[in-house]
Amino acid sequence: MSWDRQITIKSESELVLMREAGRINAEALAAARAIVAPGVSTADLNAAAEDVLRKYGCYSPFKGYPGPYPYPASTNVSVNYELVHGIPGKRKLKEGDIVSVDCGTVYEGFVGDAAFTAFVGKVSPLAQKLVDTTENALYAGIEKMVVGNHIGDVSAAIQNVAESQGFHVTREYTGHGVGRAMHEGPQLPNYGVPGRGLVLRVGMTIALEPMLLVGTPYTRVLPDQWTVSSADGSLTAHYEHTVAVTENGPLILTTQGDGSIPRRNA
Ligand code: MG
Ligand code: MG
Repeated sequence: MSWDRQITIKSESELVLMREAGRINAEALAAARAIVAPGVSTADLNAAAEDVLRKYGCYSPFKGYPGPYPYPASTNVSVNYELVHGIPGKRKLKEGDIVSVDCGTVYEGFVGDAAFTAFVGKVSPLAQKLVDTTENALYAGIEKMVVGNHIGDVSAAIQNVAESQGFHVTREYTGHGVGRAMHEGPQLPNYGVPGRGLVLRVGMTIALEPMLLVGTPYTRVLPDQWTVSSADGSLTAHYEHTVAVTENGPLILTTQGDGSIPRRNA
Protein backbone atom coordinates (compact mmCIF):
# COMPACT_ATOMS: atom_id res chain seq x y z
CA MET A 1 0.00 0.00 0.00
CA SER A 2 1.41 3.40 -0.88
CA TRP A 3 1.57 5.91 1.92
CA ASP A 4 2.03 9.51 0.90
CA ARG A 5 0.16 11.24 3.69
CA GLN A 6 1.49 14.49 5.04
CA ILE A 7 3.60 14.73 8.17
CA THR A 8 2.46 17.63 10.36
CA ILE A 9 4.53 19.22 13.13
CA LYS A 10 2.39 20.33 16.07
CA SER A 11 2.90 23.55 17.99
CA GLU A 12 2.81 23.56 21.78
CA SER A 13 -0.77 24.85 21.76
CA GLU A 14 -1.79 22.10 19.35
CA LEU A 15 -0.13 19.53 21.59
CA VAL A 16 -2.29 20.77 24.48
CA LEU A 17 -5.39 19.97 22.42
CA MET A 18 -4.00 16.60 21.37
CA ARG A 19 -3.24 15.81 25.00
CA GLU A 20 -6.87 16.51 25.90
CA ALA A 21 -8.11 14.38 22.99
CA GLY A 22 -5.83 11.63 24.25
CA ARG A 23 -6.95 11.97 27.86
CA ILE A 24 -10.62 11.70 26.91
CA ASN A 25 -9.79 8.75 24.68
CA ALA A 26 -8.03 7.08 27.62
CA GLU A 27 -11.10 7.61 29.80
CA ALA A 28 -13.27 6.02 27.11
CA LEU A 29 -10.97 3.01 26.88
CA ALA A 30 -10.87 2.70 30.67
CA ALA A 31 -14.68 2.65 30.75
CA ALA A 32 -14.71 -0.20 28.23
CA ARG A 33 -11.95 -2.05 30.07
CA ALA A 34 -13.78 -1.77 33.37
CA ILE A 35 -16.70 -3.89 32.15
CA VAL A 36 -14.72 -6.64 30.40
CA ALA A 37 -16.11 -9.91 31.79
CA PRO A 38 -17.66 -13.17 30.60
CA GLY A 39 -21.17 -12.56 29.20
CA VAL A 40 -20.53 -8.95 28.23
CA SER A 41 -21.02 -8.27 24.51
CA THR A 42 -18.57 -6.50 22.26
CA ALA A 43 -21.34 -3.94 21.61
CA ASP A 44 -21.45 -3.28 25.37
CA LEU A 45 -17.75 -2.34 25.30
CA ASN A 46 -18.37 0.02 22.40
CA ALA A 47 -21.31 1.62 24.23
CA ALA A 48 -19.24 2.17 27.39
CA ALA A 49 -16.57 4.02 25.40
CA GLU A 50 -19.15 5.98 23.41
CA ASP A 51 -20.85 7.18 26.60
CA VAL A 52 -17.60 8.85 27.67
CA LEU A 53 -17.09 10.51 24.29
CA ARG A 54 -20.65 11.83 24.40
CA LYS A 55 -20.14 13.23 27.91
CA TYR A 56 -17.38 15.46 26.52
CA GLY A 57 -19.23 16.33 23.31
CA CYS A 58 -16.64 14.36 21.35
CA TYR A 59 -16.96 11.71 18.67
CA SER A 60 -14.85 8.92 17.26
CA PRO A 61 -13.20 9.31 13.84
CA PHE A 62 -13.76 5.57 13.38
CA LYS A 63 -17.49 6.08 12.83
CA GLY A 64 -18.14 6.43 9.12
CA TYR A 65 -14.47 5.84 8.26
CA PRO A 66 -14.35 5.02 4.54
CA GLY A 67 -13.75 1.41 3.56
CA PRO A 68 -15.69 -1.37 1.88
CA TYR A 69 -18.64 0.40 3.57
CA PRO A 70 -18.51 3.19 6.16
CA TYR A 71 -17.24 1.80 9.48
CA PRO A 72 -20.34 1.43 11.69
CA ALA A 73 -19.03 1.94 15.25
CA SER A 74 -16.92 4.20 17.48
CA THR A 75 -14.47 1.45 18.42
CA ASN A 76 -12.90 -1.71 17.06
CA VAL A 77 -13.46 -4.69 19.33
CA SER A 78 -11.40 -7.70 18.26
CA VAL A 79 -11.50 -11.06 20.03
CA ASN A 80 -8.77 -13.77 20.10
CA TYR A 81 -7.76 -14.47 16.46
CA GLU A 82 -9.16 -11.08 15.38
CA LEU A 83 -6.16 -8.76 15.16
CA VAL A 84 -7.77 -5.37 14.47
CA HIS A 85 -10.89 -3.68 13.05
CA GLY A 86 -13.42 -6.05 14.67
CA ILE A 87 -16.93 -4.62 14.50
CA PRO A 88 -18.69 -4.55 17.88
CA GLY A 89 -21.90 -6.57 18.00
CA LYS A 90 -23.86 -9.25 19.82
CA ARG A 91 -20.89 -11.58 20.36
CA LYS A 92 -20.51 -12.26 24.06
CA LEU A 93 -17.10 -12.57 25.68
CA LYS A 94 -16.23 -15.94 27.21
CA GLU A 95 -13.92 -16.89 30.06
CA GLY A 96 -10.41 -17.29 28.62
CA ASP A 97 -10.88 -14.88 25.69
CA ILE A 98 -8.59 -11.94 25.06
CA VAL A 99 -10.26 -8.83 23.71
CA SER A 100 -8.72 -5.72 22.21
CA VAL A 101 -10.51 -2.40 22.11
CA ASP A 102 -9.25 0.38 19.84
CA CYS A 103 -10.83 3.83 20.12
CA GLY A 104 -10.33 7.26 18.63
CA THR A 105 -11.48 10.64 19.91
CA VAL A 106 -11.77 13.97 18.14
CA TYR A 107 -11.45 16.98 20.45
CA GLU A 108 -11.25 20.54 19.09
CA GLY A 109 -10.35 19.07 15.70
CA PHE A 110 -7.48 16.88 16.97
CA VAL A 111 -7.40 13.10 17.24
CA GLY A 112 -6.28 10.69 19.95
CA ASP A 113 -5.92 7.03 18.98
CA ALA A 114 -5.14 4.15 21.36
CA ALA A 115 -5.89 0.51 22.07
CA PHE A 116 -5.43 -2.18 24.71
CA THR A 117 -5.91 -5.93 24.94
CA ALA A 118 -7.55 -7.31 28.10
CA PHE A 119 -8.07 -10.73 29.64
CA VAL A 120 -11.58 -12.11 30.04
CA GLY A 121 -11.36 -13.93 33.35
CA LYS A 122 -8.51 -16.43 33.53
CA VAL A 123 -6.61 -16.93 30.27
CA SER A 124 -4.04 -19.46 29.06
CA PRO A 125 -0.33 -18.91 29.79
CA LEU A 126 0.19 -18.37 26.04
CA ALA A 127 -2.48 -15.65 25.89
CA GLN A 128 -0.98 -14.00 28.96
CA LYS A 129 2.50 -14.03 27.45
CA LEU A 130 1.23 -12.70 24.12
CA VAL A 131 -0.63 -9.77 25.67
CA ASP A 132 2.18 -8.90 28.08
CA THR A 133 4.72 -9.03 25.25
CA THR A 134 2.55 -6.78 23.06
CA GLU A 135 2.36 -4.17 25.83
CA ASN A 136 6.10 -4.45 26.46
CA ALA A 137 6.75 -3.98 22.73
CA LEU A 138 4.66 -0.80 22.79
CA TYR A 139 6.67 0.73 25.63
CA ALA A 140 9.98 -0.40 24.11
CA GLY A 141 8.97 1.51 20.98
CA ILE A 142 7.85 4.56 22.95
CA GLU A 143 11.24 4.72 24.69
CA LYS A 144 12.80 5.24 21.24
CA MET A 145 10.52 8.19 20.39
CA VAL A 146 13.37 10.61 20.96
CA VAL A 147 14.51 13.58 18.87
CA GLY A 148 17.16 12.51 16.36
CA ASN A 149 16.20 8.83 16.43
CA HIS A 150 14.91 7.26 13.25
CA ILE A 151 11.57 5.57 12.59
CA GLY A 152 13.59 2.37 12.17
CA ASP A 153 14.80 2.61 15.77
CA VAL A 154 11.21 2.62 17.01
CA SER A 155 10.11 -0.14 14.62
CA ALA A 156 13.08 -2.36 15.45
CA ALA A 157 12.48 -2.00 19.19
CA ILE A 158 8.89 -3.23 18.73
CA GLN A 159 9.99 -6.09 16.47
CA ASN A 160 12.79 -7.20 18.79
CA VAL A 161 10.54 -7.50 21.83
CA ALA A 162 7.94 -9.44 19.83
CA GLU A 163 10.32 -11.82 18.11
CA SER A 164 12.48 -12.39 21.21
CA GLN A 165 9.40 -14.05 22.74
CA GLY A 166 8.69 -16.12 19.62
CA PHE A 167 5.81 -14.03 18.27
CA HIS A 168 5.24 -12.52 14.84
CA VAL A 169 4.52 -8.89 13.91
CA THR A 170 2.20 -8.02 11.06
CA ARG A 171 3.69 -6.50 7.91
CA GLU A 172 0.27 -5.59 6.60
CA TYR A 173 -0.82 -2.92 9.10
CA THR A 174 1.24 -0.19 10.71
CA GLY A 175 1.32 2.70 13.14
CA HIS A 176 0.93 6.20 11.74
CA GLY A 177 1.15 9.92 12.29
CA VAL A 178 -1.87 11.44 14.05
CA GLY A 179 -3.13 15.02 14.09
CA ARG A 180 -6.18 16.67 12.62
CA ALA A 181 -6.52 13.47 10.63
CA MET A 182 -6.44 10.06 12.27
CA HIS A 183 -3.98 8.80 9.67
CA GLU A 184 -1.15 11.16 8.77
CA GLY A 185 2.45 10.50 7.84
CA PRO A 186 4.79 9.00 8.72
CA GLN A 187 3.98 5.34 8.56
CA LEU A 188 5.44 3.39 11.47
CA PRO A 189 5.86 -0.33 10.74
CA ASN A 190 6.21 -2.94 13.48
CA TYR A 191 9.47 -4.10 11.94
CA GLY A 192 12.51 -2.17 10.84
CA VAL A 193 16.22 -1.52 10.91
CA PRO A 194 17.82 0.80 13.49
CA GLY A 195 19.19 3.99 11.97
CA ARG A 196 16.93 3.78 8.92
CA GLY A 197 13.96 5.90 7.95
CA LEU A 198 12.71 9.34 8.83
CA VAL A 199 14.42 11.29 11.63
CA LEU A 200 12.12 12.17 14.54
CA ARG A 201 11.59 15.88 15.25
CA VAL A 202 9.99 17.83 18.08
CA GLY A 203 6.24 18.17 17.46
CA MET A 204 5.75 14.90 15.61
CA THR A 205 2.82 12.89 16.97
CA ILE A 206 2.72 9.23 16.05
CA ALA A 207 0.51 6.28 16.99
CA LEU A 208 2.65 3.25 17.75
CA GLU A 209 0.61 0.10 17.47
CA PRO A 210 2.27 -3.27 17.90
CA MET A 211 0.07 -6.03 16.44
CA LEU A 212 1.39 -9.46 17.41
CA LEU A 213 0.38 -12.90 16.22
CA VAL A 214 1.20 -16.32 17.65
CA GLY A 215 1.42 -18.51 14.55
CA THR A 216 2.05 -16.40 11.48
CA PRO A 217 2.74 -12.84 10.36
CA TYR A 218 -0.07 -13.11 7.82
CA THR A 219 -3.66 -11.94 8.10
CA ARG A 220 -6.94 -12.24 6.24
CA VAL A 221 -10.06 -10.12 6.18
CA LEU A 222 -13.25 -11.80 7.41
CA PRO A 223 -16.52 -11.80 5.42
CA ASP A 224 -17.76 -8.63 7.16
CA GLN A 225 -15.00 -6.95 5.06
CA TRP A 226 -13.57 -5.03 8.03
CA THR A 227 -12.39 -7.51 10.66
CA VAL A 228 -8.75 -8.54 10.22
CA SER A 229 -7.94 -12.06 11.50
CA SER A 230 -4.70 -13.99 11.76
CA ALA A 231 -4.44 -16.08 8.58
CA ASP A 232 -4.16 -19.29 10.61
CA GLY A 233 -6.72 -18.55 13.33
CA SER A 234 -4.02 -18.24 16.00
CA LEU A 235 -4.22 -15.73 18.85
CA THR A 236 -3.38 -12.06 18.30
CA ALA A 237 -3.00 -8.94 20.44
CA HIS A 238 -2.84 -5.19 19.87
CA TYR A 239 -1.74 -2.21 21.95
CA GLU A 240 -1.56 1.41 20.85
CA HIS A 241 -0.67 4.85 22.17
CA THR A 242 -0.41 8.21 20.42
CA VAL A 243 2.94 9.69 21.42
CA ALA A 244 4.50 13.14 20.91
CA VAL A 245 8.21 13.72 20.37
CA THR A 246 9.21 16.56 22.71
CA GLU A 247 12.43 18.23 23.84
CA ASN A 248 11.99 16.36 27.10
CA GLY A 249 11.56 12.96 25.50
CA PRO A 250 8.48 10.94 24.56
CA LEU A 251 5.13 12.21 25.86
CA ILE A 252 2.28 9.69 25.84
CA LEU A 253 -0.82 11.67 24.82
CA THR A 254 -3.43 8.93 25.18
CA THR A 255 -3.23 8.40 28.92
CA GLN A 256 -4.99 9.54 32.07
CA GLY A 257 -1.54 9.59 33.69
CA ASP A 258 1.20 12.22 33.38
CA GLY A 259 2.35 11.08 29.93
CA SER A 260 5.50 9.32 31.10
CA ILE A 261 6.21 5.67 30.41
CA PRO A 262 4.72 3.68 33.30
CA ARG A 263 6.91 1.43 35.40
CA ARG A 264 6.18 -2.16 34.62
CA ASN A 265 7.47 -5.66 35.10
CA ALA A 266 9.75 -6.66 32.26
MG1 MG B 1 -6.26 2.81 16.87
MG1 MG C 1 -4.03 3.82 14.92
